[in-house]
Amino acid sequence: MNFNINKNILAKLRIRWTLLFLAICLLIGVVLYFLSSSYFRNEEVQRAQNRASLYRSTLVGELERFQHLPYILAQDPFVINGAKGKDLAGLNRRLASFANRANLDAIYLMDKNGLTIAASNYSAEKTFLGQNYGFRPYFKRALKGQRGEFFGIGATTLKPGYFIAQGVRDENDNILGVIALKLDLSPLVKAWARGGEILFVANSDGVIVLSSNEEWRYRTLARIDKKRLEEIALEKQFANEKLLPLDWTKIGANEVALNGKKYIHASSSVSRLGWTLHFLADENRISERAWLTVIGIAIFASILLTLAVFLRSERIRTALNAAQADREQLRKANKKLALEIEERKAAERRLEKAQSELARNSKLAALGQLSASVTHELGQPISAMQNYLAAAEFDKNAKEREQSIKNLRSIVTRMINITKQLRFFAKPSDNNMQLIDIIQIWHGAYILTAPDIRTANIELIENLPKKPIMVKANKLRLEQVLVNLLRNSISAMQDSKKKILEINISADENYAIISVKDNGHGFGENSIEQLKEPFHTTRASGDGMGLGLAISAAIIKEHEGIFAAENIPEGGAIFTFKIPLYRE
Ligand code: ADP
Repeated sequence: MNFNINKNILAKLRIRWTLLFLAICLLIGVVLYFLSSSYFRNEEVQRAQNRASLYRSTLVGELERFQHLPYILAQDPFVINGAKGKDLAGLNRRLASFANRANLDAIYLMDKNGLTIAASNYSAEKTFLGQNYGFRPYFKRALKGQRGEFFGIGATTLKPGYFIAQGVRDENDNILGVIALKLDLSPLVKAWARGGEILFVANSDGVIVLSSNEEWRYRTLARIDKKRLEEIALEKQFANEKLLPLDWTKIGANEVALNGKKYIHASSSVSRLGWTLHFLADENRISERAWLTVIGIAIFASILLTLAVFLRSERIRTALNAAQADREQLRKANKKLALEIEERKAAERRLEKAQSELARNSKLAALGQLSASVTHELGQPISAMQNYLAAAEFDKNAKEREQSIKNLRSIVTRMINITKQLRFFAKPSDNNMQLIDIIQIWHGAYILTAPDIRTANIELIENLPKKPIMVKANKLRLEQVLVNLLRNSISAMQDSKKKILEINISADENYAIISVKDNGHGFGENSIEQLKEPFHTTRASGDGMGLGLAISAAIIKEHEGIFAAENIPEGGAIFTFKIPLYRE
């Protein structure tokens, strides 16, 4: 149940993180799109301006190519003669040849009234010959001695063209007529359209005169007032074209809307006729390039992400492999350990077996030792008793009998003593613990040993504490220990000349300390552990059973105390026992 809840929470968290990640990606995408849009917009504007300048130069080049031709023609004697009305047929042919060579639409000569008297297209169906162009502004200007320049739809052919005119003068500088040429700009415009570019040229009135898109030709960018419209009609500049306004709005410095569609816009003024060239670039290009950038970056980021994920999984895989290797090693180590444990257990079992065997053996040995000691200790008094009893049978007088009985009694007393000592091991401890001042142990032991000390002529030095030292102890048992130590010392000093026995009672942080120091023979090479062994004795048979220190050590152990012994270099030994201080 709990597991399921955790799983649900985890799934929800995962969905939440995924959504957050997607939202961040989307945000980055949007920001990237706008940044790259702005970048590409600038680039497009720059490009549009460059293209506009380029097209302007080609247009200007095209217009300027024939600027001097009418002037040169006006100097031509044939033309001057023609203007005078001489050899017009010859001039027709000459003009046709020129027009053909220069790839011009037409070259023609008008008299002072504007009537065409010679024309390169003299033989064409729609020849200019006989047509009057006196209404055309270029004619009027040329007649005034200026250069006439004009763009308009041909009055005869209805084909648009660029007209340049120059007055023809006689020797006296009088204007005889006007020589004019018509340049067809449609091949240029067709080349624009073929290039797939969107551009058009508007004249000073805002009428589109050249356009890569046919539909926009003769549309107007701005409203033309009535008076100007009438003038245009008079000059027949645009024949019967209605000059309807183009659906054109300028949105910003570099942006226009044309027929509801947005374009990047750049314009460049053409030096002739007050024309302006307009270059348009489809705005879709910007969004297309921006999208391409976003998609490119997204693909790149995905590749990076995939690579990162791949590298991470590789790392995890290596880590896993390493962990698996570690686990394998651990497993092996565990197996080895288990084997070792098994071996240890087996060894322990063997040890236990050996120990129990040893215990059994040592028990048997102890039993043997005990029985030997007991037999030995009791054997002597028993055989002495037998001797005294046998002697008593033969004792004649009462005095001798009394002596025998006295001897027998002392033997029995000794035997009782031996059995008393042995009883310590047979009886469980009575655990009669009481709170006492450790000094009382000394007082109790002193009462029991004072006669022996006096008899043996021993000097006693007592270093006793001023304050009580409280311990929780079994008084009789500790007295037994101290009596034991005192008796051992007395006996060790048997052969000493000056016998000194020193009792020290003190306390450290944790223990009450009692030590018994003598200047006897010391215990030589024996260690305290050996001395504590039951039945270990250096005394002559009958003097000791080697149980005193064993019993003492056991009693100190019962009190959780410490038992120690040291030989004194100058001779003698010091036996110390410590009992934990009583704490509330
Ligand atoms: P026992 O006195 O019956 O021999 P103990 O266990 O009391 O048994 O003593 C064991 C042995 O320790 C003694 O036989 C003796 O050799 C040695 N010993 C004990 N106290 C002293 C002492 N104060 N100085 C020298 N040796 C001692």
